[in-house]
Amino acid sequence: MMNDKRTILVIEDDPYISHFIDISLSKEAYAVLIAKTAAEGLFLISSHHPEIVLLDLGLPDKDGIDLLRELRTFSDVPVLIVSARGQETEKIAALDLGANDYITKPFHMGELMARIRVAERFIQKSDTEKGNTDFTCDWLSVDYEKRKVLVDGEEIHLTPTEYKTLLLLIANRGKVLTHNFIIRQIWGYEGGDSKSVRVFMANLRRKLEKDTAHPRFILTEIGVGYRFADE
Ligand code: CA
Repeated sequence: MMNDKRTILVIEDDPYISHFIDISLSKEAYAVLIAKTAAEGLFLISSHHPEIVLLDLGLPDKDGIDLLRELRTFSDVPVLIVSARGQETEKIAALDLGANDYITKPFHMGELMARIRVAERFIQKSDTEKGNTDFTCDWLSVDYEKRKVLVDGEEIHLTPTEYKTLLLLIANRGKVLTHNFIIRQIWGYEGGDSKSVRVFMANLRRKLEKDTAHPRFILTEIGVGYRFADE
């Protein structure tokens, strides 16, 4: 794996954007494939098995959402949505359908690289399926075996639902989780109220964060959901 270039498929009909991504990612030693239509994209996924897919939501022949729905019937490849401003609903729908993350145009290469690195960590994790080691970051640590959460070395009390949510966030750190996704994973139903998630998260933050106005761990993605800090 070390010297193998990772293949990234860019499904994007705007030649300026795909060219820019191509040049930048090739410099970072990725092999880049470009598809200008959804049909071409689906074909390249089945023929070349890219490790990561960057998916534009506005494609000439098919909605990016429909492509993603089709893709998820046969592949778990990490998908990063490239969305334009004003595509909030589509973006959230894509995340709910199993896209890994999103980036909004116009973006800096640094942002895209950060998203790609998170996606890569998910590939590596599923490659090795590492066992549960304890989690420690700054003042927060979790002992999975004893189910203990420590803040500055002092045990704090979390409700079972809060503990489950913290584990979900940590397991997906760096990745955005939509309100719907969190509701489905934690409470087990569809289409819950994002307001109740916000209240719940505010309580969890009060237990874990030192400055809830500037959270260190549980970051808000406005209108979308939450992202646990990557490092
Ligand atoms: Ca487009």
